[in-house]
Amino acid sequence: MEALASFKRELSSPKNIFITTHVKPDADALGSSLGMAGYLKKKGHQVTVVTPTDYPSFLNWMEGNDDVLDFSREDHRKKADKALNQADIVICLDFSCLNRVNELGELIRKSDAYIVNIDHHQDPEDFADYRLWSTEAAATCELVYELIVALEDRDMIDESIASCLYAGIMTDTGGFRHPNTTKNVHLVVADLIDLGANVTQIANWIYDSNSVNRLKFIGFAISRRLVIREDLHMAYFAISKKDLKKYQSRTGDTEGLVNYALSLDGIKLAALFSEREDGIKISFRSSAEVAVNKFAAEYFNGGGHKNASGGKSELSLKETVEKFEKLVEKHQTELFQEEEVSVQ
Ligand code: 5GP
Ligand code: MN
Repeated sequence: MEALASFKRELSSPKNIFITTHVKPDADALGSSLGMAGYLKKKGHQVTVVTPTDYPSFLNWMEGNDDVLDFSREDHRKKADKALNQADIVICLDFSCLNRVNELGELIRKSDAYIVNIDHHQDPEDFADYRLWSTEAAATCELVYELIVALEDRDMIDESIASCLYAGIMTDTGGFRHPNTTKNVHLVVADLIDLGANVTQIANWIYDSNSVNRLKFIGFAISRRLVIREDLHMAYFAISKKDLKKYQSRTGDTEGLVNYALSLDGIKLAALFSEREDGIKISFRSSAEVAVNKFAAEYFNGGGHKNASGGKSELSLKETVEKFEKLVEKHQTELFQEEEVSVQ
């Protein structure tokens, strides 16, 4: 609690605050950033939110979206650099390793600002002056809500802030279905609903905003690019650059695709390999008893949560998939070790 008191002291006079989150932000990353930004602005601080890359357009409804700077854009870079140089406080949300924010990572490491890290991923790097970190939390948005309450500012959570935080919790629990959907999650979202989050509207903005191209792409991927290895309880998609181009894929279009592989009866491990400009991006998902984060960290330069993690590969798409299949075959027993699923 000593650390919280120190952060509280930092916030006791108006400050320049720089907020950032991980590459290709999802609803938890952007929702926690904009929810936190909304709260800190209301407290009288000057706040700039900078993302290392772009993010899906189905998040554009979030309050503060129009002012977000994208560090990968030439026309935003100067402003973002200036905000970081002038920052008294830097808040890093939904990531725990500075390599998750591209070049911004080293700039943050060198910064003299007071550094805050709020996150729920495994194996955090120690780079912050104040860290609010718990792998028990389903989402960073859950931690941000708890932080605002601990700072005795619950009443400052308005409809916009509540909506941003609700969105992150909704998506990081897979719509309140993943094993991380605890009693606390429901208590927090109950309060966010009380504070104005509109459940139907938010679900609609995030889940029901498909383009025709995206829906056709999903159909194509399921019928032509899904490999099912029932013998290994595993299924995966391998999507080439050409496939993405054919369906004019935009940021966020592959989001959720991997869940179709995991939804198959008997499948406990699912993966999505997509060929991008800078290599193969990988998403892993698993059922409760299979841990994919260690697998991602050990073999694919990644990490994440027990049942949802990611990584990358510099091999070709074909070679990456072959490596994956061989590894799953080889590590069957460790990967699929049944263990007690704790119910909270
Ligand atoms: P997604 O598959 O949705 O991109 O990512 C799932 C989870 O894995 C997220 O919590 C994300 O932060 C984490 N993750 C994805 N890619 C990487 C990566 O390259 N490195 C690490 N450490 N985590 C990742
Ligand atoms: Mn998250």
